[in-house]
Amino acid sequence: MDLSKSMQIEYIYAAGNRVCSDDLGRWRFTAPCCDHALALEIYNLTLVPEQQIRLVILPESQQGSLTSVRGLRQLLSESGEQDFPLLSRAAQVTTWSRDHLYCPRCATALSHHQQDLAKQCEACGLTQYPRLSPCIITLVIRGEYCLLAQGVRFTEPRYSTLAGFIEAGESAEDALAREVREEVGVEVANIRYYCSQSWPFPHSFMLGFFADYLSGDIVPEPGEIVDARWFHYSELKNTPIPPGFTISRQLIDAFLEQCETKTD
Ligand SMILES: [Zn+2]
Repeated sequence: MDLSKSMQIEYIYAAGNRVCSDDLGRWRFTAPCCDHALALEIYNLTLVPEQQIRLVILPESQQGSLTSVRGLRQLLSESGEQDFPLLSRAAQVTTWSRDHLYCPRCATALSHHQQDLAKQCEACGLTQYPRLSPCIITLVIRGEYCLLAQGVRFTEPRYSTLAGFIEAGESAEDALAREVREEVGVEVANIRYYCSQSWPFPHSFMLGFFADYLSGDIVPEPGEIVDARWFHYSELKNTPIPPGFTISRQLIDAFLEQCETKTD
């Protein structure tokens, strides 16, 4: 069957650094919602052949009736896990497109790449792809307890897993041990990979791990961590933890399930 003839094209609109939604919270549209000649850029976001998806980036002045008050985090929480990869991709490409107008090597204005989701420099030939910044995120486990912390930048009281950027030249495992040591003063062992998530705030790529406690007392890093402590798994249901669409929550839920299975 020729999929291309019957397949519907879907449109996602963005302006500034945000994905637009209408007043009902819808952000995927099966018909064009505005004159696409006004668009700054149009990208093909299609990742699987069964879908045809276009990201239309509008000047902020053209947001019009599509603009809603919902921010990206709210859209993500309302959309559910199945929409996370696409919404995340749309948001990251939008930010990347806005922040990469000129060649970082020779300062010529970048133009659309003919085949790839990328921009190219006509003068020096440099190609720029949407940037991802790799981070580690980890749940440190000590028997029936796990280590959660409240960061200084959290907008509400909430306990979460530890996370941080991987530095140039570092392995993910080295970055994990360093981040845990810096943020809470604890040494870890038996680091094991669990899952990953592309995180659109603004272009992180989270590699999720479990790690076992090895030694040290918790000492929250001044200026970074407000509070950090060990939580028994039975306390987690009454603790403010990250929402379901986050990798942090997936790590916590997996730990919780493991503990509950053991005690059944
Ligand atoms: Zn150049």
